[in-house]
Amino acid sequence: MGASDVLSDAGVLGEQLFQAARANAARITTETRMCTSRRRSLTNRGVEWAVSELTDVVLVGAGVMCATLGTLLRKLDPTLTIQVFERLDRAAAESSDAWNNAGTGHSGFCELNYTPAAVDGSVDVGKAIRIAEEFSVSRQFWASLVGSGDLTPDFVRPIPHMSFVWGADNVDFLQTRYAELAESPLFHGMQISTEATEIADWIPLVMEGADRGPVAATRMDIGNDVNFGQLTRTLISGLAKSEGVAVHLAHEVVDFRHKADGIWRIKVRDLERDRERIVRARFVFIGAGGGSLPLLERSGIPESRGYGGFPVSGQWLRCTNRQVIERHAAKVYGKAAVGAPPMSVPHLDTRRIDGRRELLFGPYAGFSTKFLKRGSWSDLFRSLDFDNIVPMLSAGAHNLDLTRYLVGQAMLSPEERVAILRAYYPAARDEDWEVEIAGQRVQIIKSDGRGGGVLQFGTEVVTGANGTMAALLGASPGASTAVAIMLDLLARCFPERMEAWRPRLSALIPSYGHRLRDEPELCEAIRRQTGEALQTT
Ligand SMILES: Cc1cc2nc3c(=O)[nH]c(=O)nc-3n(C[C@H](O)[C@H](O)[C@H](O)COP(=O)(O)OP(=O)(O)OC[C@H]3O[C@@H](n4cnc5c(N)ncnc54)[C@H](O)[C@@H]3O)c2cc1C
Repeated sequence: MGASDVLSDAGVLGEQLFQAARANAARITTETRMCTSRRRSLTNRGVEWAVSELTDVVLVGAGVMCATLGTLLRKLDPTLTIQVFERLDRAAAESSDAWNNAGTGHSGFCELNYTPAAVDGSVDVGKAIRIAEEFSVSRQFWASLVGSGDLTPDFVRPIPHMSFVWGADNVDFLQTRYAELAESPLFHGMQISTEATEIADWIPLVMEGADRGPVAATRMDIGNDVNFGQLTRTLISGLAKSEGVAVHLAHEVVDFRHKADGIWRIKVRDLERDRERIVRARFVFIGAGGGSLPLLERSGIPESRGYGGFPVSGQWLRCTNRQVIERHAAKVYGKAAVGAPPMSVPHLDTRRIDGRRELLFGPYAGFSTKFLKRGSWSDLFRSLDFDNIVPMLSAGAHNLDLTRYLVGQAMLSPEERVAILRAYYPAARDEDWEVEIAGQRVQIIKSDGRGGGVLQFGTEVVTGANGTMAALLGASPGASTAVAIMLDLLARCFPERMEAWRPRLSALIPSYGHRLRDEPELCEAIRRQTGEALQTT
């Protein structure tokens, strides 16, 4: 495709987005009028706005983020009243469900996209070390919950985390990466091999029948496979049983108002009874996954301005042949294809889901305009407004290669998908694999402050209204680092309570206030203690 095609693509995309923004602005104006008149009629009837219940905390969504925040808050202050609202009839049915994510306990052990190489051949391992530390915080919190009887450790299992590459340049990269990481106590125990026979012992499916030239692999035996869906549902049902907490399934949050009294009014639709009500809350967390961006826009807080979302869908190839499944026992991450977004690093993964061992390959990314797997095709267009249209267009124009890559991925035939798998499992047969739909991710597009926009691949907590509202945007590394993300949120939204909460936080997370990367003995002690509690050693 030539430069003129690219420009024409950008023009068509821009025109479509602009028309959508215009239509959306008109829709929002009409909706605002309708909301205002409906609110007036509610007020006139003297219902709900005046007498609605007041709760300390409202959590929007029953995914791993709200489950983690709710559990943390209850541990820190059992007197807090909490209401959880979830639009679906089941907790953890979106990204947090086991089939919708890769279940990798992201620790930087195997994810090559966390350790970019510079042109001089050096490798920056800072992000991998930070994520390893953050995953250790999650493991410590889960270990404490196992100790207090809130969790059983069957949602997390040990599985070797491996990186695998071929070609001389990639082998050099992996060796440099290994040398840098091996210095850190968080990566103590990592092995490397450039011997094809040894690697074949570790991952026979990957090596059989392949002639790739020089190869290299690293292996970390203490990697984890996490069923985030099971974890989330256990935490949510624990919350539902707690005094002062209510979990409402099939309840969709549709709007917010922040009043002069500092209290949030949250409009909630009961989807079964087709009724709306207003709940009042001192603090609101929007942990609605892909649904967070439109809700944040509804909140009207100034901090929400300029954010946009770029949805990326996902698919796995799922192995249906039990003999093949039993012959692989690792999470094997490779290098992302040129032009691919960082979250589409291919990996061949042993999983444990619904009590069964499974083998998945992917994720294949794709383009979709939905913000949630069970969302609407109009989500992307409805999210456009005059504050984010320019950053969105600018990010779109700068990421045409990415858009084209995603469209190309979405168009792959089943045979073409298996052909990609054969780079990692050369003997793969078409008939042994079927497509499984993964979760939806919404990447953040953020104003760059100069009238343009940038596409980001991390997660970001947005807070506003004097810390009475927070929302989580973005997707990755997400679930693995949920506890660290929520500790950051607590520090930003409840700064006056952090000192009083410190002893409790230290009991729940023994490394709280320390940096494991700088304290090898503490790092080793915590690795041992969490391994025993979670039964992963
Ligand atoms: C393909 C893929 C692979 C991934 N792999 C990994 C991995 O290996 N390791 C890892 O750590 N992370 C991974 N992630 C990311 C991880 O899944 C997410 O970070 C995490 O699940 C996000 O949790 P959440 O609670 O924010 O969102 P979700 O789990 O999506 O929960 C949000 C909830 O909010 C509800 N909701 C939405 N709108 C409303 C509304 N208006 N009112 C009420 N409820 C609402 C939704 O129904 C949903 O239940 C992956 C994600 C994908 C898509």
